Amino acid sequence: MDFRRAGTTDEIVSILAEVGPDATLLAGGTDVMVQYLRGEIAPKLLVHIEQVDELAGVDEADGRVDIGALTTHLTLSEDPVIRRTVPGLAEAASQVGGHQTQAVGTVGGNLCNASPAADTAPPLLVADAELRLRSAAGTRTVPLDRFFLGRRHTARRPDEVLTSIAVRPLPSHAGETYLKVGRRGAMEVAIVGLAARLVLDDDGDVVTDARLAVCSMAPRPLRLPDAERLLVGSRGEPEAVAAAADAVQETTEPIDDARARAAYRRRLVPRLLAEAVRLCMRRARGEEESWS
Ligand SMILES: Cc1cc2nc3c(=O)[nH]c(=O)nc-3n(C[C@H](O)[C@H](O)[C@H](O)COP(=O)(O)OP(=O)(O)OC[C@H]3O[C@@H](n4cnc5c(N)ncnc54)[C@H](O)[C@@H]3O)c2cc1C
Repeated sequence: MDFRRAGTTDEIVSILAEVGPDATLLAGGTDVMVQYLRGEIAPKLLVHIEQVDELAGVDEADGRVDIGALTTHLTLSEDPVIRRTVPGLAEAASQVGGHQTQAVGTVGGNLCNASPAADTAPPLLVADAELRLRSAAGTRTVPLDRFFLGRRHTARRPDEVLTSIAVRPLPSHAGETYLKVGRRGAMEVAIVGLAARLVLDDDGDVVTDARLAVCSMAPRPLRLPDAERLLVGSRGEPEAVAAAADAVQETTEPIDDARARAAYRRRLVPRLLAEAVRLCMRRARGEEESWS
């Protein structure tokens, strides 16, 4: 296996143009190295991109927030702009593995690895994230809900690098959260992860917009439009939440794996959704601080 280190985005793009599918990008390496050591991947060339500083960091301008692909989970969980504008993402990033994983693992690596359990995917889906992918041919933008095609399968072409992720900040009268059920408190991927973003009317009473997304409930992280529609117009009453939970169960195909059976994952949904709705409504009304 060959190893090259890229210092700029231009360098990454030109290596990918030259080598194509034989090159594997190495950001924090917390997925790549595990998969390599397990024999699941056998890259011919590893391209180390971790030190390309222009691909890391958070920018806020013109009503959008841009997150560099190499931004680590630790930065996401601590960054004041992320905590104010996409608090569900900060909450999710703080639950990716343990401290060491958060210190080196990146948001771009989490998305491009496309695990069904990727923790940053649900909060980014509810924030209408759009991914910028760059190759020698130029840059294209792909909405996150069209990026995941299946387990470890994305719309990224082999000659493309993910450079940044643009998200829509939380509007006023809105609250969001990311709730994760795992076997242990730390170092464990999600059995179920649920992100919710609810917008309330000016009186803080009725839900005017609802966004929900899950991980570990299908071969890829998903938005839940049917369940969202059932919450809009409600006041978060138990009947509306129960109907939305039924819709989640009907429209997802939970995975069966060593961590949990599909039936157990389904059983978690009603309580998880009820708690997410309760938290979002309290946060939207200012009755409770966002995650901190
Ligand atoms: C102990 C442990 C615990 C973990 N716990 C969790 C958890 O709780 N939740 C969770 O979601 N994940 C977890 N993970 C998985 C992993 O840490 C995350 O997915 C992490 O975000 C991956 O980021 P990375 O920078 O290390 O990616 P890498 O391993 O460097 O790369 C992952 C994949 O993305 C590609 N890639 C990386 N950057 C780019 C880019 N900019 N453009 C195009 N392709 C790119 C790589 O080629 C590779 O295919 C855990 C891993 C470990 C080892």
